[in-house]
Amino acid sequence: MRYFLVWCTAALLLFNSLQAQAPKKYSSNEIYHSIQKLNFLGTALYVAAHPDDENTRLISYFSNELKARTAYLSLTRGDGGQNLIGPELQEQLGVLRTQELLAARRVDGGEQFFTRANDFGYSKHPNETLKIWNKDQVLSDVVWVIRNFKPDVIVNRFDHRTSGTTHGHHTSSAILSTEAFDLVGNPDAYAGQLDQTEVWQPKRLFFNTSWWFYGSRENFEKADKSNMLMFDIGVYYPMKGVSNNEIASLASSQHRCQGFGRLSSRGAQEEYIELIKGDMPPNTEDLFEGIDTSWSRVKGGSEIGEILEGVENNFNFKEPVSHLPDLLRAHALITKIEDDHWREYKLAELEQIITAICGLYLEASAQEPTAYPGSRTGIDIEAVNRSEAMVMMRGVSIGNQIDLKVDKLLDNNEKTTLELDLNIPESSEYSSHYWLREPWSIGMYDVTDQALIGKPETPPSYQVVFHMTINGYKIDLDRPVVHRYSEPDKGELYRPFVVLPKATANFNDKVVVFANGAMREIPLTITAHKDSLMGEVELKYPEGWQVSNSIQTIEIPKKGGQKTVVFEVTPPASEEEGNIYPELRVNGRKINKELATINYDHIPTQSVLLESKAKVVRLNIDRSGEHIGYIVGAGDKVPESLEQIGYRVHLLTPGDIEAGSLDKYDAVVTGIRAYNVLDGLKLKQQILFDYVKQGGNLIVQYNTAGRWSPQYKDIAPYPLSLSRDRVTDEHSEVEIIAPDHPLINFPNTITEKDFEGWVQERGLYFPNNWDKAFTPILSMQDEGDSKTQGSLLVAPYGQGYYIYTGLSFFRELPAGVPGAYKLFANMLSLGKSELDNENAIKG
Ligand SMILES: [Zn+2]
Repeated sequence: MRYFLVWCTAALLLFNSLQAQAPKKYSSNEIYHSIQKLNFLGTALYVAAHPDDENTRLISYFSNELKARTAYLSLTRGDGGQNLIGPELQEQLGVLRTQELLAARRVDGGEQFFTRANDFGYSKHPNETLKIWNKDQVLSDVVWVIRNFKPDVIVNRFDHRTSGTTHGHHTSSAILSTEAFDLVGNPDAYAGQLDQTEVWQPKRLFFNTSWWFYGSRENFEKADKSNMLMFDIGVYYPMKGVSNNEIASLASSQHRCQGFGRLSSRGAQEEYIELIKGDMPPNTEDLFEGIDTSWSRVKGGSEIGEILEGVENNFNFKEPVSHLPDLLRAHALITKIEDDHWREYKLAELEQIITAICGLYLEASAQEPTAYPGSRTGIDIEAVNRSEAMVMMRGVSIGNQIDLKVDKLLDNNEKTTLELDLNIPESSEYSSHYWLREPWSIGMYDVTDQALIGKPETPPSYQVVFHMTINGYKIDLDRPVVHRYSEPDKGELYRPFVVLPKATANFNDKVVVFANGAMREIPLTITAHKDSLMGEVELKYPEGWQVSNSIQTIEIPKKGGQKTVVFEVTPPASEEEGNIYPELRVNGRKINKELATINYDHIPTQSVLLESKAKVVRLNIDRSGEHIGYIVGAGDKVPESLEQIGYRVHLLTPGDIEAGSLDKYDAVVTGIRAYNVLDGLKLKQQILFDYVKQGGNLIVQYNTAGRWSPQYKDIAPYPLSLSRDRVTDEHSEVEIIAPDHPLINFPNTITEKDFEGWVQERGLYFPNNWDKAFTPILSMQDEGDSKTQGSLLVAPYGQGYYIYTGLSFFRELPAGVPGAYKLFANMLSLGKSELDNENAIKG
């Protein structure tokens, strides 16, 4: 069947994960491994929900031991999690984790796919997950990926039968994969896809079980395993000098922003998969039993198989180029295969091998990492043949822009260089992450181009095609345009070559809170991506707001230079919120983009272009006190948020906490998970309690249960135990159960309305047991759960107050949620209503 190959262009699948990395250079061993994979025509797909869910032991085993084409389909990009290595959160974290998955796949030999599902944060049940995701769209994407990738076997990480026992995203991934298994072969299901792909039926669907799902190792030992396959995923690869499990550890250690760096392990280890759908292979060791995984699988493949199996069986490690005539013969035969899927994929694989055996190095490196529409960029071309093969470079081309005739014979180890002059048309699209181009919702990214759905990355902006003749045989080889450079402390580096706007504009704060009616200055930093940038910027703002200097001129002499302009913004008289946008006008083109650059050693540099905007929130908020001591925990933006409403926040480490040193603060706050991450903090606990006893106000934000509870019971001056209780639905009803408490009345009156507009969740790790000295203030619960009253607990202690709260202020304050600000201001003001009334600052 002929169909228009939009998605499954094998070159992209093969090289996407290599994009902008140092080009892979193959040893004889690696070439041999590639030939083994070339001769294996079986495909496996692993399915789960997040970056880090994937079992790299199994992915590596399928790819390196079984030689199968293997991929991981992660339904989300992990946008909703936390970041242990830098400031990226939400969509930027999704970009970072996408790259960490690609880095993991470069290690374990897999490929990587995604759906449009957005990781919206923790969810207790798949019913909730599949309401927030558009279930039909995510299922459609799973079907689409399967129809294009054509796996023979699918392995789910999670069990589709056990809703409620793990993250709702996890169970949903298994439910959708299982439903998709029954739909992919049905031409009536998602029929709209079929003008771009074709139906496909995988043979088997498994669940990657383990003792963990049986409660204990003993239970699992006793379990009936007649419908399970077992693999020794500790197998040793002498050709690589490492065992499968060592590769797996290295792969999962790429998930650095999640703190997944781990020790490698060696030795035999069993891994089980349980059959869910399809037939059980009678021989319980062969995943592909009954599936033809040889070249005879493909019409016209037998002759190809004979040639390539000959190469594999007689592989010449010392002189791999001696196989060139056979490989070229096989190439010519593969081009005649009617099956588009196998033809495209196997040609791309074989072309890598042919290039590798000739030691043929081809590179296209832009002289600068970024360009802008309307500019010209030099592209340095390097071509070296390091073999006795007759290699001729006939020409090079870039799209329909450049088509240069070269006609040069590449003599053994003689380097050829060329410089191309690439014109970036004024109408060029900017390089961007395709799923971030359209506005997205909490549950779904919006991607209109079906051909992009599933792909890990946007295809590179520019590719160079090298038109080669090798031993008289014509072959075209693509290379993405990259930027090669060096840094004195790191050596040679590569990054993607990207097209950026002439200038971008970033607000310093994405949310600006006006605690009262006073004017605030809002800075905007403009970065030039060209020399001699001249233009102007206008701030667009909602009705009722005032900006005294909304249009300003910009002039930045050098590319990479920055200028900060300041807008004087006055809010309306009443409480309101809206968005402000900058419009840059440069040479008649309007630009509203901000640029975030994500730069870590383990991933290629990412230039993330997003709509530039900031949220402005006008509150009427009263507060008491001024100086806050903030003990920084795992990292949160609460201090910056408190400064926005006029507090002066002093960041503290455990070393700063000495007897009497806290007296100057109106309140002391511990950052999220402070007791989990700061070993020195528990040694200072008595000083903190003494501070409270003498009239201080201590606010402890959430810590995870386990390390502190119940083993370490002294987190509070009275008994308090933490639990895993959480309320994940940010819309869940909140009841104020201590309406007369000062926390609810001073200086701001809190009502149920203040719990509207919260984001992501209500809170987490709420205490479930507390001393009677504590007053619970709020009651809340997720649908189907029982009420929890542990989200906000307050107890008088000596002259002061101790507050423990698992409410997610670390999410709500940076998002500009008015009610969360008022409640936090009341927590900070506690105890000041009688003592310090005249100091209360009125808005
Ligand atoms: Zn997960």
